[in-house]
Amino acid sequence: METSTNIGVRQGSLAQVLAGLVAGRIDVIDLTTRLSRNTPTLDLPEPFANLIDFSLEEVSAYNSPGPFWKHHNIHTGEHIGTHVDAPVHWITGRGGKDVAQIEPTRLIGPALVLDVSAEAAADSDFLLDIHHIRTWEETYGPLPEGGWLLIRTGWDKRSQDRQRFLNKDKHGPHSPGLTVECARWIAEESSLSGIGVETVGIDAGAAGGQHPPFPAHHFLLGNDKYGVTSLQNLDQLPPTGAILIVAPLPIVGGTGSPARVFALKEGQTR
Ligand code: MN
Repeated sequence: METSTNIGVRQGSLAQVLAGLVAGRIDVIDLTTRLSRNTPTLDLPEPFANLIDFSLEEVSAYNSPGPFWKHHNIHTGEHIGTHVDAPVHWITGRGGKDVAQIEPTRLIGPALVLDVSAEAAADSDFLLDIHHIRTWEETYGPLPEGGWLLIRTGWDKRSQDRQRFLNKDKHGPHSPGLTVECARWIAEESSLSGIGVETVGIDAGAAGGQHPPFPAHHFLLGNDKYGVTSLQNLDQLPPTGAILIVAPLPIVGGTGSPARVFALKEGQTR
């Protein structure tokens, strides 16, 4: 094969992908939220204990502790910014996989985008139900094996504003999530690998009042399905046809990890 550009791989499926990336026929979309001391974290009410926020601690900055270099310690909870929930995070997944044990093949798969941003704009406590998924399937076909259902709510636009992102009032936080039946169906009857959301957690803000409480955590993590939170830029993805790449750190014993999340999609220049 003669090409004007050396893409490093000469044949096979990966050569097509690389050629597509070089030529702009495939776009890479970053779905990750920026990580800093201002990244909003989950804020549990009394009497529960909260994780620390993310921060950088300077150890040297081209000065006497390190004259030629700059480096930091990072301080963070596991569940910060765009992050993965591993099964062992929840009591129903106790004895299940930690974040280092999740197989990479389950962290890469078809991205399926379900847009309920209008519903979530009208109702901060909006809950996705099975019938929303069924309606999506009527248009785009059955959810594929190993897919990731990405729930677009528009909440990513709030992610740099702690108050609007967590959206608390005197009754507690209000942000969209899943019905109990939908969480159970995804966990027990679908062949998805997991779900992705734009909110701070995979459950609704008011999910402490559902039965069981926090049904997405309860059912998904108890059935070896995964969750990824605080996604950005889902509005740049088609409903089907993109590939999701979720890359948490392999923290041994970790119940979750910050993750870099990319999507590959067909570019505009085809
Ligand atoms: Mn989490």
